[in-house]
Amino acid sequence: MPELRKDPILDHWVIIAAERGRRPHDFATKREPDTTTNCPFCGGNEDTTPPEIIALSSDLGRRPDTPGWDVRVVPNKFAALAIEGELKRSGIGLFDCMTGIGAHEVVIESPDHSAELPAMPRDHVVKILDTFIQRILDLRSDKRFRHIVVFRNYGSAAGASLSHPHSQIIALPTVPKLVSEKLTAARNHYRHKERCIFCDLIEQELAMPERVVMQNAHFVVLSVFAARFPFEVNIFPLEHQHDFVLMNREQKEALADILCRLLARYEDVLGGPAYNMMIQTVPNMTPRPGHPEYWGTIKYDYHWHIELMPRLTKIAGFEWATGFYINPVSPEQAAASLRGDADEADIAVPA
Ligand SMILES: [Zn+2]
Ligand SMILES: [Zn+2]
Repeated sequence: MPELRKDPILDHWVIIAAERGRRPHDFATKREPDTTTNCPFCGGNEDTTPPEIIALSSDLGRRPDTPGWDVRVVPNKFAALAIEGELKRSGIGLFDCMTGIGAHEVVIESPDHSAELPAMPRDHVVKILDTFIQRILDLRSDKRFRHIVVFRNYGSAAGASLSHPHSQIIALPTVPKLVSEKLTAARNHYRHKERCIFCDLIEQELAMPERVVMQNAHFVVLSVFAARFPFEVNIFPLEHQHDFVLMNREQKEALADILCRLLARYEDVLGGPAYNMMIQTVPNMTPRPGHPEYWGTIKYDYHWHIELMPRLTKIAGFEWATGFYINPVSPEQAAASLRGDADEADIAVPA
C-alpha cells in the first residue's frame, strides 16, 4: 500500500508509491509506444487495460471493455494511490503518515491514437468534460476522499508517458497544501470584502485588457499577472461559479470552444508545446467532524478555474531552492502573441 508522509517543517504531503515497482534503471530508459499496435488506450486494445469504470458510447448495446466507445475511464495500471483500504493516520515523533488511500484513473479521450484535442469536434470535447464531471461526483460520494484533481499532461516534457490523448484523475485523502492556501486566501478576501477575489480579478483584468488572451460568452482566458512560466494562462468562467460540476450545457460548449481555440493558438505560436492543464475546483465539501461550518462561505468565495502552462522552461536549482521562478516572457507579451497582435507576434520563445 502506498503511504502519505508529511514534511514536518514545510507541512506538505508526499506520496511514497514504491509499489509502482520502479528500479533505478527504469527511470533512465522510459520509452513511449508510438504505434497503435502496442498502445493500451487505442480502440480495439480494451483487454490490455484494467476493467473500465465508465465509458460514454453512442452504441447502447455495447458491452464493457469492447470497442465502440467515445470516452473511456479505466483505473491507472500504475496507480499512485490504492482504492481499497481504510484511511489510517499515524505518527512517529515529528513524522506524520497516512495510508495511501485514493483513486487514480485515466480518462481515455478518444479511441483514436492520433486525435488531437484542439481538432476534436466540439461535442466530443463536451463528452470529455461530462466524463470529468461524472467521475468527480462519483469520487466525492466516497467520504475518504477530500479532494479530487483532474489534470492533463501533454507531451513527454510534461510527464505524459503515453502519447494517446488522455487525462488523469486523482482523488486524495487530504486537501493539498497548495489548494488549501488558495482556498484560505479566497475565504479571507471574502471575510473582509464580501466579494469573490476571482470575480474581482476578472473584472479588473477585463477593464484593462492587456492580459486578456481570448473571451467568449461564458469564459475568459487570462495571461497570469505573476506567471511562473512563459505563456501560463488561467481560464475562468465569467459568471461566478464555485464548482466545475455545476456547468450547464451552454457553458460546457463554451468551455470546449475556448479550450480548443487556446490550444490551437499554442500550436500556432509555440509549435505544439508539451503542457500541463489542471482543473482547480472545490474540495469534497462533506462536513468535517467537529467543524460543521468548515466550508461555510465557499459557494461565494471560491471560483473554479483551469490552469494551463506550456513546458518551455526547466525548473532548476534556483527555483527548487527558493520557490521563485524566472519567467523570460512577460505575461503581457505572451497575451499579445496569443491574441495574434501583429507587431508582437515575433517575440523570442525560450529554447
Ligand atoms: Zn493509442
Ligand atoms: Zn467569483
